[in-house]
Amino acid sequence: MEEAASFCPLDRIDAWRMFFGADASGLQPNGVSNRSSQIIDKLMAEKSNKWKINVNGRFYVDDQCIDCDLCREMAPDFFARSDDGYSFVHKQPTSAEDIKLCEEALNDCPVQAIGNDGE
Ligand code: SF4
Repeated sequence: MEEAASFCPLDRIDAWRMFFGADASGLQPNGVSNRSSQIIDKLMAEKSNKWKINVNGRFYVDDQCIDCDLCREMAPDFFARSDDGYSFVHKQPTSAEDIKLCEEALNDCPVQAIGNDGE
């Protein structure tokens, strides 16, 4: 019996990355820059585009968030949902364990809307 096709948008993003040969970080394995990696680089979180609602600090969410809920599921102590339907950082991690958890959320965000170069 055939399985039903998946129409999850996150699957499509992963397939798109695989098609262009980029890993989750948006970098080509051989370090060569090309148009596909430039397109993917635009997905990386940008400090200048972060939501103002983020608390000050290292971690933030920018305006690329698609409200998939993953970071809030992974690290609810640090990520919350705004009334306008996107995630933001409501508390900065301080312990090594909590920072690692937020790094994992950053790495798993399907659109790379989480940054860790904030202030
Ligand atoms: S994982 Fe990324 S896209 Fe999903 S809710 Fe969090 S910041 Fe938004």
